[in-house]
Amino acid sequence: MTVIKNIQEIIPLTIQGEGFHAGRCCSFIRLFGCPVGCWFCDTGYAPGDRENLNKLPRLSIDYESLREQLQSRYVVISGGEPLFHQDFEELLERLLGDNFEVAVETSGAKAFPFEKFPKVWVTFSPKLHATDYLKGQPSPTFWTHSREIKVVISEPSDLNFYEDLLDQASASEIPVFLQPEWSNKLETTPLILQILQQRPDWKISVQLHKYLKLP
Ligand code: SF4
Repeated sequence: MTVIKNIQEIIPLTIQGEGFHAGRCCSFIRLFGCPVGCWFCDTGYAPGDRENLNKLPRLSIDYESLREQLQSRYVVISGGEPLFHQDFEELLERLLGDNFEVAVETSGAKAFPFEKFPKVWVTFSPKLHATDYLKGQPSPTFWTHSREIKVVISEPSDLNFYEDLLDQASASEIPVFLQPEWSNKLETTPLILQILQQRPDWKISVQLHKYLKLP
């Protein structure tokens, strides 16, 4: 029996609210834990929230029971930061073995085994502009092998961290999304529209599930 430890949340049925697949129905698995510490983190890992980490749920569940809860064939794994999770690869292997379509959302704080998991849709959401934790660039492979790049921004200067890399990703036809940071979205959205005027190949990503008040 395979037990997956440190799961923060399982949402049997919701929608993917962000990025390329926004609007698709999915099952959502949130893995516990993230050392990155973005100031805008909305899942409990912002620096000011760290004293409350022990109040976050941490489930251990055997894989078969987990699978039974999933009501969509499209499964999104997020965090926290899933790449730091001890059972992450095991979970991917089991889901892919059961023919689920699997997507992973990551800050790129740790290398992803792209060659081992070519079928996994990787959403790369770089966080260099939002934390001091990531001293160096994420692994360069994220800019060339991810299926989409989603930058959460609160002001246009956030993009300065990534300008050349985003150009390179766009040249490789990796879709780029700019997502307004939720707590600041009314101010940020017009700024993003100005950027999109200059970059019509990029798109805005809104957190559709939040507008619909879905989990
Ligand atoms: S990488 Fe994601 S989960 Fe981790 S602190 Fe940043 S926003 Fe939160």
